[in-house]
Amino acid sequence: MAKKTSSDRPRRPASKFLLAGIDIGGTKIHTVIARGNGTVLGRARKKTRPERGFDGVMERVKENLLEACEEAGVRIKELRAIGVGAPSAIRADGTAVHAPNMGWRNAPLARTLSRMLHKTICAANDCDLGTFGEYAFGAGRGSKSLVGLFPGTGLGGGIVDRGRLNRGGNRLAAELGHMVVVVDGRTCGCGRRGCLEAYASKTGMSAGLAERIATRQWKTTLKSQEDLLGLRSSVLAEAYRGGDELVRDVVDEAARYLGIGVANMITILGPDTVVLGGGVFEALGRDLIGIVRTTARDHVFPPPSFKDTRIVLSRLGDDAVALGAVAYAQSEMGLR
Ligand SMILES: [Zn+2]
Repeated sequence: MAKKTSSDRPRRPASKFLLAGIDIGGTKIHTVIARGNGTVLGRARKKTRPERGFDGVMERVKENLLEACEEAGVRIKELRAIGVGAPSAIRADGTAVHAPNMGWRNAPLARTLSRMLHKTICAANDCDLGTFGEYAFGAGRGSKSLVGLFPGTGLGGGIVDRGRLNRGGNRLAAELGHMVVVVDGRTCGCGRRGCLEAYASKTGMSAGLAERIATRQWKTTLKSQEDLLGLRSSVLAEAYRGGDELVRDVVDEAARYLGIGVANMITILGPDTVVLGGGVFEALGRDLIGIVRTTARDHVFPPPSFKDTRIVLSRLGDDAVALGAVAYAQSEMGLR
């Protein structure tokens, strides 16, 4: 039998590459080892411990990567590249400009990890990567232009346009949680007023609960200020499904605000897909997506453009940012 030549060898899929994706969050680090087609071979998780400072967190990132590699049966030197997401705007050189949750300012994220791991590091904002993950491997697979919105403690988002992340001319934009939806509204964590995050995130919902409790009596199962301050998505979901009058009022309002944010994004960008994820939608997505769709439909201009956009729930859940980092590293390295 004749030896196969390179010309009649079938084109190998992108799955031949091994990559790592690391999601550095305020509370946990989550790493996946995956093939280029998104197949996950191993995962590891670790507390971030931001109080140990930037260098301390970088050490924990390395430990977490080693644990994920061990789980996957892969050595670091087999990885083609490593994608990293962090809760900060990230410059083209991989510097994290400002990450309040981590206490970082102008932290040399990509340069430090590249020195420690001897690998190419492709770093980007975590919500940009969550959006890119859904585009590449999740609910947005097959779409051309996609917007992601992720309400959790805060509210992050991202934009993918024809296969590329759109971060604006300065690479620092697409901070969708800070689009203003109320004139002189609630104070946001960013210091300004009326941002979408101040209404549709868990922090916004806590404020909404406190405002209502201050003005009149509500029937509620929420027991204490603790429930309000550290509002967990699971507590919220349980109260919501149990018919808690106060919680339903606040959460439904948050979903309507999110619907306004979605309508604005459709009016401006006309994406074919909007993906909703993050802690709140992990817990209550099926209950809330109808409200978001209806509100978005009622506020889009021109009205027919709504029909061209799917509004769907995230499919990657906890893996979204890490898998987005895998897809991003692959795209930045030109691996196909
Ligand atoms: Zn804001």
